[in-house]
Amino acid sequence: MTPYMSEGFQIVAIDGGAASGKSSTARGVAGAAHFLHVDTGSHYRAVTLRALAEGLEPREGPALDRFLAGLRFESEVRGRCACIRLNDEVPARADIRSDAVNAAVSAFAALPAVREAVRAYQRDQAGVARQHGFKGLVMDGRDIGTVIFPDADLKVYLEADASTRAARRKEEGQTDTIDDRDRIDSTRATAPLAAAPDAVRIDNSNIPLEGVVDEVLRLLRERSAGARAEESPTQ
Ligand code: C5P
Repeated sequence: MTPYMSEGFQIVAIDGGAASGKSSTARGVAGAAHFLHVDTGSHYRAVTLRALAEGLEPREGPALDRFLAGLRFESEVRGRCACIRLNDEVPARADIRSDAVNAAVSAFAALPAVREAVRAYQRDQAGVARQHGFKGLVMDGRDIGTVIFPDADLKVYLEADASTRAARRKEEGQTDTIDDRDRIDSTRATAPLAAAPDAVRIDNSNIPLEGVVDEVLRLLRERSAGARAEESPTQ
């Protein structure tokens, strides 16, 4: 039994590459299971937006350290989603998903100092979920099952073929450098994009969103039943 489950609170980690359907799946799971959803991509995007506004290059050094030391991370719970509030401001969705942020976010996210600056904040989201009465937390990103919550109750790694992923971004009207981001994200030294060894891999190229959400919910029920059986083994 994992520590989270023993407290009657579940954590689901959903990882995968760009446009693999992580956030949509996580939102669906949060809605159906009454969990809090946290999209960690938005954390790196918010930091990148601010760094670009301050004219910073994605490079370690005193200027980056000063910038990171001046950041205050908080969450604003809206419905079932915890939005990042950075220095008293919830950045607009359109701003953090701009072409400029798409192009720079992976370079900033690859810097160990940047990852260290967000790590504790991301782990604290379990407490935010509990404080707001949620039954669990579903967090999506690249390193949730490997680094942020290595003892999550359920880890899912989503995959989709290249043409499906490109079509999704096109549908959203976004110019995104999916392949470049995935290459940088999976080859960086710190917390690279990777499936945890105990993650359940789901290729959703040919499965509608509801089907993927249902499968995650089924896996979650299976884990809960397994944990209950562990708690009260038959004599
Ligand atoms: O999930 P999304 O595509 O919005 O993430 C934007 C970028 O943030 C990713 O390409 C990656 O560089 C970074 N990221 C990360 N670790 C996470 C979540 C996102 O490095 N857990």
